[in-house]
Amino acid sequence: MELGDIDTPALLIDLDAYERNLERMADKVQATTVRLRPHAKTHKCPIIARHQMVLGAIGQCCQKVGEAEAMVRGGVPDVLVSNEVVGKSKIRRLAALARLARIGVCVDNQQVVADTDEAAQTFGTRLDVLIEIDVGTQRCGVSAGEDARNLAQMVDRCTGLRLGGIQAYHGSAQHIRSYETRRRAIEQCAQKAQHTRDLFERAGLNCEIVSGAGTGTHPFDIASGVYNELQVGSYIFMDADYLKNLGADGKPIRDFEPSLFVLTSVMSHPVADRAVVDAGLKALSTDCGLPTVWQHEHMAYVSVSDEHGVVKLDPARDSIAVGDKLSLLPGHCDPTVNLHDWYVAMRGGSVEGIWPITARGAGR
Ligand SMILES: *Cc1c(COP(=O)(O)O)cnc(C)c1O
Repeated sequence: MELGDIDTPALLIDLDAYERNLERMADKVQATTVRLRPHAKTHKCPIIARHQMVLGAIGQCCQKVGEAEAMVRGGVPDVLVSNEVVGKSKIRRLAALARLARIGVCVDNQQVVADTDEAAQTFGTRLDVLIEIDVGTQRCGVSAGEDARNLAQMVDRCTGLRLGGIQAYHGSAQHIRSYETRRRAIEQCAQKAQHTRDLFERAGLNCEIVSGAGTGTHPFDIASGVYNELQVGSYIFMDADYLKNLGADGKPIRDFEPSLFVLTSVMSHPVADRAVVDAGLKALSTDCGLPTVWQHEHMAYVSVSDEHGVVKLDPARDSIAVGDKLSLLPGHCDPTVNLHDWYVAMRGGSVEGIWPITARGAGR
């Protein structure tokens, strides 16, 4: 099939750009002691996990037990749930999954540590545990330092758990536009992580893993000398929001290229300056802003509803007809992926593969 034959809305990957992104991130850690554990919440697809691992990634991160199950079923041997897993049924599924693969999880609560230990013993498995510390996001995580060490001591006494180290992920720093502000956020974050690691080591606790980082901050996380696992996710696809982050020169960063698009058709063109396309809220996520129309700078996707998107045109420059196709660059890649059942992997204008998004909707 060629591009023109694809029914819409469809989620496309530009394979050339995608492969360059994979290689660029693999190159960045190549000469360092930092390992790559990319985040599967971005792609939800074991085929993509395999591409990352062929280039040296040690495993995958997931955010949900359901995602971890999909990755393990798809052949991933090593998964960290970089999130808290709470509630009897989820914890039991996680402990059972550890029969099939190496499984890690983050904790920030004593009762959850006890419940996870009990489940692992019931299933005869052992889970790797990272203590999540709050490095400034004010979301999950115990305070860095003594609170983290105290929880680590409890984990260390559990026979079903293996203390692996700490997670120090700064989510809100990823999209800080200014290079210097982003750098300073990670500097503080790394100090907290290092202080906590020092306390672990003084108490004789294992802290071989310091995990964190995302696409927006990874250069600083690598340079810190504190982190040794990167959880980067979005770099494979990028999105309109990430492309707004600025580099040291004050210009938008272009280390990684947009490779994920929603292909849409013009379904109505009632007046000269307005076209309506068939990709709305059910085909793309707008939580980080509306999509942009790829390679048509004068067109603007200006409003969205369930099944429609309104595109403003400049009739003097743009000519478009009902049935024409446009590629949209989504505002936010991860939740956009979660709206689709498969990727159409494109090389140039031709379809090279259909990749199922098997963890789509794995919200538990
Ligand atoms: C989303 C997420 C990441 C990856 O972030 P990107 O900005 O997509 O690279 C890493 N770690 C955790 C815990 C996350 O939630």
